[in-house]
Amino acid sequence: MNGVIEVVRSPNVCKTGKRGLPGFLKYALAVMLLAATVAGARETGSAHHHAVAQYLANEGVMVMQGETKILFDPLFRNAYGQYQLLPQAMEKALFAGEPPFDGVDAVFISHYHGDHFSPRDILQLLQEQPEIQLYAPAQAVSGLRKIADEQDQEVFRRVNAVELAYKDAPVTLNMHGLLIEAVRIPHSGWPTGRLDVENISWRVTLNDSTTVLHMGDADPNDVHFERDAAYWDMRQTHMAFPPYWFFSSTYGPDVLANRIRPGHSVGVHVPVSISKTPSLRPPELRGFDLFTEPGERREIPVSMPLGVEEAPNR
Ligand SMILES: [Zn+2]
Repeated sequence: MNGVIEVVRSPNVCKTGKRGLPGFLKYALAVMLLAATVAGARETGSAHHHAVAQYLANEGVMVMQGETKILFDPLFRNAYGQYQLLPQAMEKALFAGEPPFDGVDAVFISHYHGDHFSPRDILQLLQEQPEIQLYAPAQAVSGLRKIADEQDQEVFRRVNAVELAYKDAPVTLNMHGLLIEAVRIPHSGWPTGRLDVENISWRVTLNDSTTVLHMGDADPNDVHFERDAAYWDMRQTHMAFPPYWFFSSTYGPDVLANRIRPGHSVGVHVPVSISKTPSLRPPELRGFDLFTEPGERREIPVSMPLGVEEAPNR
């Protein structure tokens, strides 16, 4: 809206009135035209951007664009003594499908660890919100099946398992309003630890226009990203949610800058010991944007950094 008002005020619009129609008439026409454009934009919904990311806790993030809403790693029970859990009121609203969690379309799980995924709670969410589709690594889905009873089987129609081994090519899935891409990036600890964990980095495009990347507990080594260089190049990520160690590790910043090249990154999985005040954080984290407060939001930028060409995300 601000942009529209600025155009109306722009001296160029008034100057065009020198020839032909009187200036005031041109100005009036310009205003009418803009009003029609604004109305048209409203009619098509906010399909063209204005997307927002809202923080839950740990790596839990909701991304919203118009009527389309998706959640990453929303329900977990283990804070391992150092991460944030969802505030009670937020959790209640999520199960009840109350704002801002009304009309959630899909939930994505990065991996089956207690600070990202609680099978019991996800099962309950699927039961209480029959419109939600779940996308999760096969490992998490088998955890879900293990605790499910006979009467829970119905929810598995909405459960989509991705089975990816390390070095497998990325896969693409589609649902109404969402283009979903998944690649397995090893869990941090690679190459010696947690190799069995199916950690999925989800790249999701909402309404053919806004692309976000949730990386789970990805290991920040370029070798995992170099392999799929073309995959990372073929779509622009407007906002990435890397675990905060991507900012402070040796190669993480280069992976973000050279492979993923997001419009903006907001670090997640931030321990509670790291201050909400940037100037009080360890020096290596001061220059980065981190999600630290459940409920806080970021506008997802439309424009890309210099040197990155904007192309339709289809
Ligand atoms: Zn974790």
